[in-house]
Amino acid sequence: MTNRQIRTIIIIGSGPAGLTAAIYSARANLAPLVIEGEPSSTSDQPGGQLMLTTDVENYPGFPEGVMGPELMAKFREQAQRFGAEMVTDRVTRVDLSGPPHGIWVGDPDAPEPTYRAWAIIVSTGAQSLMLGLEAEERLIGHGLSTCATCDGFFFRDQHIAVVGGGDSAMEEAIFLTRFASKVTVIHRRDELRASKIMQDRAFANERIEFLWNSAVTALCGEEKLTGAEVQNTVTGKSASLDVTGLFIAIGHRPNTDLFKGQLKRKKNGYLITDPDSSGTEVEGVFACGDVQDDFYRQAVTAAGSGCMAAIDAERWLESAGHS
Ligand code: NAP
Repeated sequence: MTNRQIRTIIIIGSGPAGLTAAIYSARANLAPLVIEGEPSSTSDQPGGQLMLTTDVENYPGFPEGVMGPELMAKFREQAQRFGAEMVTDRVTRVDLSGPPHGIWVGDPDAPEPTYRAWAIIVSTGAQSLMLGLEAEERLIGHGLSTCATCDGFFFRDQHIAVVGGGDSAMEEAIFLTRFASKVTVIHRRDELRASKIMQDRAFANERIEFLWNSAVTALCGEEKLTGAEVQNTVTGKSASLDVTGLFIAIGHRPNTDLFKGQLKRKKNGYLITDPDSSGTEVEGVFACGDVQDDFYRQAVTAAGSGCMAAIDAERWLESAGHS
């Protein structure tokens, strides 16, 4: 396909939403192209957030649970089985003034888009929030992590901290007890946000201890993490925590910067879709998954919305005479 040819449908992002949209649109003979993301990226890695997860116990159809990366490999295989085409690259610019709409990968200043498509499904997902501490960028991958699955192994028999009080933080803490000698959960309040079942599991785990009303104020170490400074949010007292690993699990932000000024977003950055639909205010542009969902944020709801987006796009393409 040359740059000048117009694709029927392009899907940006390859998490549960994007790949479900790919399965449905491929089975509808729309020959979708999926721009998967960039492997080295934390914001748009192929496969999305489940690539950074361990056991997924709540995805229907897997009574014994399934590892996140394994589940995404199955999604991908299923999409390819029906002819979805994958490109491992990241989108750097979009022009949604069509249809047809333009998509750039590589140089965003290139005069012509790399791809054009009548319909676009946006499924760029969300990414981990960071604490905003000065040393974060330097120490990420050197003791500081947002992914227990990826990095837990490196902390065998060590003392690790996890920041956050939600389900992600509990999941990370529990997983890390497989490796660590001790896991300290640092939470800014004195009660958890996590679901009851996850709280119970964390409280029952002898290797997990809780540091309540506490905020990490500094990360220590030049080339690798050697500890953290923690301040009590009630007393104001500071203390050093002797940890060699620190995992941040404080929530997510949607990957919507690409669409600023072109698609409507909520105050928190999530895309706005039409009620009971995946449609956006731009003709031929649909959104699904975590990029437009700040409420459920589950793999299964993302997959469901990917299905909706593919059906919405298919119907729109047909009505507009592009299928
Ligand atoms: P979350 O529920 O939004 O929890 C974020 C946690 O981080 C909260 O405890 C919050 O504190 C804390 N936090 C936020 N900003 C902070 C900061 N700057 N400094 C320190 N702490 C900060 O996010 P999540 O745990 O990632 O979960 C997101 C969604 O996915 C939830 O709906 C969750 O149920 C779901 N999820 C489910 C599973 C599962 O079922 N297995 C696993 C993971 C996630 P406050 O409590 O004080 O606000």
